[in-house]
Amino acid sequence: MSTGEPRIGVLALQGDVREHLAALRSSGARATTVRRATELSEVDGLVIPGGESTTISRLLETFGLLEPLRARIAGSMPAYGSCAGMILLAGKVLDGREDQHQLGGLDVIVRRNAFGRQVDSFEEDLAFTGVPGPPVHAVFIRAPWVESSSPEVDVLARVSDTPNVPGGEMAAGRIVAVRQGPVLATAFHPELTGDTRVHRLFVEMVEGKL
Ligand code: GLN
Repeated sequence: MSTGEPRIGVLALQGDVREHLAALRSSGARATTVRRATELSEVDGLVIPGGESTTISRLLETFGLLEPLRARIAGSMPAYGSCAGMILLAGKVLDGREDQHQLGGLDVIVRRNAFGRQVDSFEEDLAFTGVPGPPVHAVFIRAPWVESSSPEVDVLARVSDTPNVPGGEMAAGRIVAVRQGPVLATAFHPELTGDTRVHRLFVEMVEGKL
């Protein structure tokens, strides 16, 4: 039965899959797990969760999903990556593993574990372009930042100039949320906070409203 709700997959090879499924469901999407190419072909959009980008990269190959997923992203399927997902969607990664694969979709260079060198985890309230209401409470866990981005990329959020990171001069003002056409990415984990506004933004992108 068609409900009119968009069908959004969560790449379910590793990482915090359940939290994304829950956030998508409370944002008006039909959410399903994606582990095979046939499942990928049935979704209108895909979330790539937080986790470990090198592990997800390896499993993409094992499950025969690497090329099908690259092809769907090249074909403008909406995609949203949080943390490890942002790393996978980036065109280029600094401090990654030699053999880690990139899916493309975002014309950015990300630095893996960028905040993690200073502290494993930190939290900060961020102004987020396109998300109405109060600032978004952002949870960073061994998070990347966007080192540089092309002019085609919209910067949606940055950490503050005095970030809540011990010894955080290097982290000041870093880009932590971006959008390029149908691809959205955050260095942090909105799926962990119970605030579904970022997922709602993605659902509306999949619906073609934004
Ligand atoms: N540091 C992890 C990586 O390289 C990402 C961490 C996360 O997703 N919380 O993939």
